[in-house]
Amino acid sequence: MAETTLKCYVFQFLSNTLPSNPSDFCTMHPMPKLFIDTVGCQMNVLDSELVVGSLRRQGYELTTDPKSADVILFNTCSVREHAEEKIYSALGKLRGHKEAHPEKVIGVLGCMAQKDQEIVTKRAPYVDIVCGPGQLARVPELIDAAKKSRKKQYAFSLGRADAGKLEVTQSFESYDPNRDPTMRPTPFQAYVRIQLGCDKFCTYCIVPSVRGPEQGRHPDHILAEVKQLAGEGCKEINLLGQTVNSYKFDHGDGRKSRLSDLLYRIQDVAGIDRIKFVTSFPKDMSDDLIQAVRDLPKACKYLHVPAQHGDDVMLKKMKRLYTVSYYKEMVQRCREAMPNVAISSDFIVGFCGETEEQFATCGELIRFARFKNSFIFKYSPRRGTKADELYKDDVPEEVKKRRNNDLLAVQAEISAADHQSQINTEVEVLVESPSKAALKEQGQSAYTEHTQLTGRTMTDHIVVFEGHPRLIGQTIKVHIDQASPWTLFGTVQTDENVAVTGDLDILPAIARLPDRKIELSLVQLLAYR
Ligand code: SAM
Ligand code: SF4
Repeated sequence: MAETTLKCYVFQFLSNTLPSNPSDFCTMHPMPKLFIDTVGCQMNVLDSELVVGSLRRQGYELTTDPKSADVILFNTCSVREHAEEKIYSALGKLRGHKEAHPEKVIGVLGCMAQKDQEIVTKRAPYVDIVCGPGQLARVPELIDAAKKSRKKQYAFSLGRADAGKLEVTQSFESYDPNRDPTMRPTPFQAYVRIQLGCDKFCTYCIVPSVRGPEQGRHPDHILAEVKQLAGEGCKEINLLGQTVNSYKFDHGDGRKSRLSDLLYRIQDVAGIDRIKFVTSFPKDMSDDLIQAVRDLPKACKYLHVPAQHGDDVMLKKMKRLYTVSYYKEMVQRCREAMPNVAISSDFIVGFCGETEEQFATCGELIRFARFKNSFIFKYSPRRGTKADELYKDDVPEEVKKRRNNDLLAVQAEISAADHQSQINTEVEVLVESPSKAALKEQGQSAYTEHTQLTGRTMTDHIVVFEGHPRLIGQTIKVHIDQASPWTLFGTVQTDENVAVTGDLDILPAIARLPDRKIELSLVQLLAYR
């Protein structure tokens, strides 16, 4: 027995926490440490969850300090330049550290890795691994190879024009290995990928190049994953796809599955209370899907359907495949079926040639559609996209900034009115965690005292209220007392839902929350900085 192992054993003995499995004694060498920084969308958060899951199974433990880690990974985004520069700046800070500790392994994973490939090692020559999002299953093997050989390791999928569609599609692996329950954002919420890639090719967007062709996962595999998650105590499933509502799976025997079919099947999974899906493409918001969301009690009455712009010329230049009147008609169809449905959007401001008049149409569309919220982005030209090839990025940065703020102000006005209309109503909230403010002020004690909690309604509205942390993971009724443009504030209604003792099985998971929060801060929160 090595000395470190013995010390571990003695310490464990003294602290009365002997491992129940004797073979665990052999694994008491200091565990290798892993740091992972995630930037980007929910898809990246899920990818990081899966990478961390596979490395934890190999004995790695997570750390929040990159310099104390043996392996430092960056899961990257390439949708906007800003996201890339953040990563290069973080890599730059590690240059000296890597020179002093050449045995440490630094990896760049995800969309930027696929897009830039050798540029990454040109800009940061000390990076050991560059691995695209379609090759993440290989990360453990790449780390081992980098450690042993001290040579750079690359793993990419094929480019869209590098081979025939089938070959390119196959080079983007569906990376959904066994889930690691401890790595979910919370014990009761999980992402489930139903679709890979994108075939829409909006002219500004790099996603179809870096995430490959659209492919729907087999519905039976999706169902099996959902059932496994439900068995582990998961209550809310968020189905992920770049254009999730264009999900289709051809069974090869004449049967085809759509997103609505999946929703009906997941509705029947015991233990799952809520089903969400993101992101929807306006043109694919079919009536069967709207009906399914309307009719299924577990389907959240919330649709994220990015409009991107309010002007037909701009939409055409973006190749969004619909007109403003089509989009408006789609919103009306959704509202006719579900008067209280919440719809949210994305907008790009300052796209090539955008005039003040054209920009103003985005505000008009927000007012028409009464979006619950909108994510507003300044256009960022991406090498390898059609827009970058065909159009000049001619809207000055300060104009983009001003338009961004102006559009946010319109959205804030609409969101405030929506929130005001909810004052004095009672809503059902799935309690997620202590509020950001409580975490900031109280840190770990936010989990042990009566504190400010946060959760979401079935329409994805964020609600903040006072309550005991043991409510986390429960669906409770909250009376809405006040509202700001971005948050509803309320009071927990004392009825049978609040009797926590009825749901004891969730308590062990909640008891693990402080640790989980550390993981969450690594895997999820960093993604939304
Ligand atoms: N698949 C989703 C869709 O179609 O809406 C989301 C894809 S993308 C990761 C998320 C958002 O980033 C898009 O909705 C778009 O508003 C924005 N986006 C994509 N490319 C961009 C670019 N080059 N510059 C600025 N924003 C961009
Ligand atoms: Fe990008 Fe358009 Fe595909 Fe969304 S639909 S991922 S914006 S190409």
